[in-house]
Amino acid sequence: MNVAVCVKQIPDPAAPGSLHPDTKNLVREGKLILDDSDSYGVEMALQLAEHAGGGEVTLVSMAPNEETSGLRTALAMGAARAILVSDETLAGSDALGTAKVLAAAIKRAEPDLVMAATESTDGYTGTTPAQVAELLGLPSVTFAKRIDVSEGSVRVERQTEAGYDEVECPLPALVTVTAGVVEPRYPSFKGIMAAKGKPVEQLKVTDLGLSPDQVGSAGARQEVTDVAAAEERKAGEIVVDEGDAHERIIAFLEQLKVL
Ligand SMILES: Cc1cc2nc3c(=O)[nH]c(=O)nc-3n(C[C@H](O)[C@H](O)[C@H](O)COP(=O)(O)OP(=O)(O)OC[C@H]3O[C@@H](n4cnc5c(N)ncnc54)[C@H](O)[C@@H]3O)c2cc1C
Repeated sequence: MNVAVCVKQIPDPAAPGSLHPDTKNLVREGKLILDDSDSYGVEMALQLAEHAGGGEVTLVSMAPNEETSGLRTALAMGAARAILVSDETLAGSDALGTAKVLAAAIKRAEPDLVMAATESTDGYTGTTPAQVAELLGLPSVTFAKRIDVSEGSVRVERQTEAGYDEVECPLPALVTVTAGVVEPRYPSFKGIMAAKGKPVEQLKVTDLGLSPDQVGSAGARQEVTDVAAAEERKAGEIVVDEGDAHERIIAFLEQLKVL
């Protein structure tokens, strides 16, 4: 079974991030790392391919400056190869532009199953995977905590607030994985060495049959107009019990529509 995993490479969250003064977009000039959210999708894909007894895991990424550091981490975990789309015309891509690029790259891998994280940790609109599925005409199942594949279909336990739903759909399909549902393996020394020689196909926008005005700032339908610091948390109110504290707390919760 062949699985394509969308893998976002992001600035190291441990380093202080900065925004471009004009575009207000996150500056992504330095080394990028594998988004922690995607390590769960990679692990799940590796387990599914191992369980199926064959097939390959292909990573698909769109990132600036032909960055491969995050991809090498996922290749060291055990993925077989990667497709990287990196092109100056992609600067300023919104979520739909990103989805167009990922969908076109995924098509080349002809996967039985496409996986992505539920949301990234740097931009997190949480909309990219559903848009990829729509562009590819695939069923989309989100928030998976368990995935079983058999005989041309996929059965997913889909996390909900109350527990989980069981969803089944035919393959090929796109499934998004919730963080924490599997324990991502640490790349072994052997895996790290092997990853250096694994193929990373580098593509430009036109290699995908897309035109530069469909992507990047030219194709974006969203614009970041302003960025403001989040309001500081205000100090809470201390309710001194004079016999009516419970009534005041209930009234407060009712005002918040919690009760
Ligand atoms: C107007 C505008 C301009 C922007 N300009 C830029 C820019 O110049 N440079 C820039 O880097 N970002 C830019 N962004 C942000 C960029 O569009 C988003 O990071 C991208 O659309 C993915 O959205 P997300 O992070 O919300 O992903 P989510 O939808 O939260 O991601 C869910 C999952 O989808 C997959 N995924 C998402 N993005 C990628 C990817 N790139 N490669 C592989 N898998 C992926 C991953 O599995 C991820 O966990 C811009 C956004 C806007 C609105």
